[in-house]
Amino acid sequence: MVVLVNSGCQQHADNKQENSTVESAFYQYTQLHLGVQVRIALYAEKEENAEVAAKASFARIAALEDIFSNYRPKSELSALSTEAYRKYIKVSDELFFLLETSQAFAAATDGAFDITLGPMAALWKQARKDTLLPDLEALAAAREKSGWKLLELDVETKSARLRQAGMQLDAGGIAKGYILDEAMQTLNQHGITSALIEAGGDLVVSAAPPGRAGWTIEVPGAPANSPIQQRATTLTHAAIATSGDTAQFVEINGIRYAHIINPKTGLGNTSGTVATVIAPNGITADKFATALTVITAEAATALLRQNPTIFALIQ
Ligand code: ADP
Ligand code: MG
Repeated sequence: MVVLVNSGCQQHADNKQENSTVESAFYQYTQLHLGVQVRIALYAEKEENAEVAAKASFARIAALEDIFSNYRPKSELSALSTEAYRKYIKVSDELFFLLETSQAFAAATDGAFDITLGPMAALWKQARKDTLLPDLEALAAAREKSGWKLLELDVETKSARLRQAGMQLDAGGIAKGYILDEAMQTLNQHGITSALIEAGGDLVVSAAPPGRAGWTIEVPGAPANSPIQQRATTLTHAAIATSGDTAQFVEINGIRYAHIINPKTGLGNTSGTVATVIAPNGITADKFATALTVITAEAATALLRQNPTIFALIQ
């Protein structure tokens, strides 16, 4: 969970009254989406513009949730899981982009990040409810239906195909970040250039609040002089995401398991790692945060070395 320390909101609301040359004011809106309160904070010259932009942005979030949700059987992602067995199904541009990004990242992380782990995730959800490890047969069956190489994409036709029956795609580790990016783009299209959108601790920001160098975000656990906190102190055109077992975990036989799955075991991750990531956009921050909690410290170091625009705090 990252904390917004100082958005400049109060200061700027006050400035506006004191100084007539400061034209934009700070507005904030919240709505329930993605199972959490989504907050849009923005600067605009007119309240009417702020409201129209925020409304459009929330509508974009709702539309994308209809595509990516794995809780909704009618989402495009859920429908694809049932229809694409051995048959290429054409998908929306948004879904294709998400699938392509996920598959490239699965390759880059040697399968640690894997959106095909739906069957394992479903089993693990039940295990968390029962506080009981899944039985070995069920686990073996779920593992057969999971694995990123079982999802095939055709770039030319923007289609996807599944190689096993009973597969289930799960975009939970990446969709939120992409949705925040798109929500920000919608604000931009409505002329809002300085904004922050936050959902369940993950956030994206665009240009700095008027008269400031950037948005100031506190990364819990990061020392003030650490590169990630330095970066988060004047954040612009970037995103922050956190993953780990702090909020959602289960303890079985004395072992603490996270809600993030280690695709190698099919069980909740047990490393106890919490990863906070700053990246140029939400989709990148989200996928990195999820993967960095699963992979070894060595693999994380190598991955981060290949991606110099990513700042991560792994604790
Ligand atoms: P949060 O849910 O706290 O935002 P994440 O961004 O890490 O945290 O997303 C966790 C979700 O990602 C899980 O609920 C599941 O849907 C999905 N997931 C779990 N394990 C993996 C994994 N190894 N690779 C990709 N997605 C995963
Ligand atoms: Mg994630």
